[in-house]
Amino acid sequence: MGEKNIVVVGAGVAGLTTALLLSRNPRYKITVAAKHMPGDYDIEYASPWAGANYMPVSVRGTEAAEWDRNTWEPLADLARNHPEAGVHFQGTNIYNRGKDVSSATAAWFSELLSPTPWFKTLFDDFREIPKSELKPGVDNATYFTSVCINTAIYLPWLVSQCLKNGVVFKRAIFEHIADAAAPSVHHSGKPADLIVNCTGLSASKLGGVEDKSVVPARGQIVIVRNVAPAMFSISGTDDGPDEACYIMTRAAGGGTILGGCYQKGNWESQPDPNLAIRIMKRCVEICPELTGGKGIEHLDVIRHGVGLRPVREGGTRIEKEKINGVWTVHNYGAGGAGYQSSYGCSQAAVKLVDETFPERAKL
Ligand code: FAD
Repeated sequence: MGEKNIVVVGAGVAGLTTALLLSRNPRYKITVAAKHMPGDYDIEYASPWAGANYMPVSVRGTEAAEWDRNTWEPLADLARNHPEAGVHFQGTNIYNRGKDVSSATAAWFSELLSPTPWFKTLFDDFREIPKSELKPGVDNATYFTSVCINTAIYLPWLVSQCLKNGVVFKRAIFEHIADAAAPSVHHSGKPADLIVNCTGLSASKLGGVEDKSVVPARGQIVIVRNVAPAMFSISGTDDGPDEACYIMTRAAGGGTILGGCYQKGNWESQPDPNLAIRIMKRCVEICPELTGGKGIEHLDVIRHGVGLRPVREGGTRIEKEKINGVWTVHNYGAGGAGYQSSYGCSQAAVKLVDETFPERAKL
């Protein structure tokens, strides 16, 4: 049948989703090898820190918009039909303030803040919020029902789906991407025929890749036990151009994520306590229901956290090349969109794998 041995390097949302889609083809024998696995919390591992929700920031007409588009239905299907995946539907309020137009957050959110974004037709209930209902300082706003993913449930769920399809998981740290092709890595004991590179921010340092256009965009969050009635996001804050304000309540008792910031080039792994206070104040202001109209001392904090979004200038890299004689398919650099683009990006990566190993023409 022409079996192919594939090693996926990385067990974040990119590596796990790609491994899952690949594993649906019985020709592919897959080992996922990674330094960090679901259950770990580490500054080198972005996926557990994400909110995560589906709130497209990709620009109309781009490949990124196509990846986001292709991800909506799989995530909605999980929310609708597979509660064990930890994904649920939640209303989303997007607020825009004209004065934020030149801030880093507003630039990142430019499509999201539009009253007519490309993704408007994906949602049955997309609407502009009437001016009479806007909070003071908000110039325009939209509402739609999207999904929020409890990453503490969803990442292990992806692992479980892969295991069901015969994928083997192991810990490994590679100095060079081509080291993943060594016979000791794939569970067959044979060299890999192809490597999939899903190393996120580490792609900037990994030998054979060293993509210097990949940089961190630091995100700090506070996870609380308080519940928000919907998701909220706003174009900017009055506390600095790289600070942000968003709220989402995770499925199945996952707590509520209060964010945040988008600090490009900042590698700091420790929460800044002053920023944490600003985050909590902004969130309670935008959503007083969190504390029943009381102050931030009525937030019940579970944990403070910091994650580094793997931002790549020019967008996520989904390409194929031979490195040291081994075919390597890249899928890294999703920035702040790793979940909301996960199925689209992984489908594109699988296409590159399939093109490398065409099935023999039927007689
Ligand atoms: P990672 O999760 O970082 O995984 C990288 C993997 O590669 C790990 O397993 C690591 O161990 C492995 N690895 C790296 N180097 C090596 C090596 N040399 N050898 C072996 N293994 C290696 N996205 C959304 O879509 N929606 C959101 O709401 C959202 N919110 C976010 C909020 C915050 C605060 C942050 C920080 C991010 C958010 N994101 C969100 C972005 C999302 O988290 C990332 O885009 C995504 O997690 C990136 O996944 P990844 O698999 O590419 O990388």
